[in-house]
Amino acid sequence: DTIGRNLDRAIAAYPQREALVDVAAGTRWTYAEFGAAVGQVARGLLGTGVVKGDRVGIWAVNCAEWVLVQYATARIGAIMVNINPAYRAHELAYVLDQAGVSVLVASQAHKSSDYRALVDRVRPDCPGLRAVHYIGDGSWDVLLEAAHRVTDAQLAACEAELSCDDPVNIQYTSGTTGFPKGATLSHHNILNNGYFVGELVGYTERDRVCLPVPFYHCFGMVMGNLAATSHGACIVVPAPSFDPAATLRAVQEERCTSLYGVPTMFIAELGLADFSSYDLSSLRTGIMAGSPCPVEVMKRVVAEMHMAEVSICYGMTETSPVSTQTRRDDDLERRTGTVGRVLPHVEIKVVDPVTGVTLPRGEAGELCTRGYSVMLGYWNEPGRTAEVIDAGRWMHTGDLAVIRPDDYVQIVGRIKDMIIRGGENVYPREIEEFLYGHPKISDVQVVGVPDERYGEEILVCVVPRDPRDAPTLDEVVSYCRERLAHYKIPRRLRIMDSFPMTVSGKVRKVELRERYQD
Ligand code: ATP
Ligand code: MG
Repeated sequence: DTIGRNLDRAIAAYPQREALVDVAAGTRWTYAEFGAAVGQVARGLLGTGVVKGDRVGIWAVNCAEWVLVQYATARIGAIMVNINPAYRAHELAYVLDQAGVSVLVASQAHKSSDYRALVDRVRPDCPGLRAVHYIGDGSWDVLLEAAHRVTDAQLAACEAELSCDDPVNIQYTSGTTGFPKGATLSHHNILNNGYFVGELVGYTERDRVCLPVPFYHCFGMVMGNLAATSHGACIVVPAPSFDPAATLRAVQEERCTSLYGVPTMFIAELGLADFSSYDLSSLRTGIMAGSPCPVEVMKRVVAEMHMAEVSICYGMTETSPVSTQTRRDDDLERRTGTVGRVLPHVEIKVVDPVTGVTLPRGEAGELCTRGYSVMLGYWNEPGRTAEVIDAGRWMHTGDLAVIRPDDYVQIVGRIKDMIIRGGENVYPREIEEFLYGHPKISDVQVVGVPDERYGEEILVCVVPRDPRDAPTLDEVVSYCRERLAHYKIPRRLRIMDSFPMTVSGKVRKVELRERYQD
């Protein structure tokens, strides 16, 4: 169904239960009130001339208005374009232009980001951008006042025209392997994905979901917001951007039952000096995703944060995003050593990346997914869409994976990162995980660089624990000799201060490879 009609069901079923709490702003809405607030923003957008198919950008830190805009745009058939709040002027200009954004909703300022100044800077280059509404400013009130020009009946008529296959959202990929691509997603894509993610963690109208993860990313807006509202649960926004103490305070005061985060967020929360003073006994579950989750962190989250049922997800922007997820009763091995099993109504297979032949369980190859969750395509890029979605509607993820005999999936790494040294396939992640155990190494990345003799050679880039006592190549080699096959042993070493990162916090190996070509 459409997101609007799905929301209507929650409003009808749980009018007096809470739908949304913005802790920092001190505001809260029941489902009945949330429905009315979403309706007002929806009518406001119509009243200012937004029509079905128009792209409405949202460039804001986490706040209640973000959520209102998400559901309001869905109600009127506009296509919301999520813009990363960490973007700078040239990235903003690229997205506004590429997606053809005509109306932008933005934060005014947060921490070191002056959104207003950045918008002013790019505006001359974006002639298609006709209106900007800053949250909490008179320009936001303009939107709310425009709602008076549109009746509920007009909004309902607009909604009646929508189909679940209409595009509702453009989300840009993280840009880890190249320039970000705008995945165009339908109501059917993301509503179903949110619904099933929520189903697998067992959400009901009694759940209260604490979301310190950014809304601009699918982790917040699909796995968080849509998972919650499609089960009548409550969205709790602890702070505009990640703050470990504010997160735990929100869990305690709002009696949250579920908490989300990337591994580093949980590490920061567990590391708070006053961690043990928070009452987290209301928690039962949560989701950890985005990057591989270390076993030790998972153990502590389960034992010390009351999250016995914490779930791990694997996915990508192009698949709405989740494809596999651990289940509530999985043991710690499956919860930490795998990314779970395939979601209901999604198919997965592993193929030989070169021949495309389907491989048996237990063999590593490219993971492909098919089902309701596969995006409509990259926005305005049919060529790039055809490179990843084949004639059988299989999405080629670019990730190497193994489907185990027990149906659980393990991610081995990305195809683009795989090194072929003298005909042997080498997976950087295996070497990196091993080198994390070296006492002199704080952080490590492994990439392939051109080599005359072997085609590619293994370069290890190291951020040392102590810059005055960095490991030598000999030390790294002898450390690896004991445990790794000879062809996996790095032959080149670079000591660095830090790695080039994407705004979503992933290391850009592509940049390391380019930098050390020679
Ligand atoms: P781009 O496609 O622009 O290069 P990206 O692939 O990092 O960037 P996202 O869609 O945000 O953009 O990330 C999806 C990717 O993240 C997956 O293809 C996979 O490589 C990685 N990933 C996601 N979840 C997990 C997980 N649980 N474990 C390991 N890797 C994961
Ligand atoms: Mg990708």
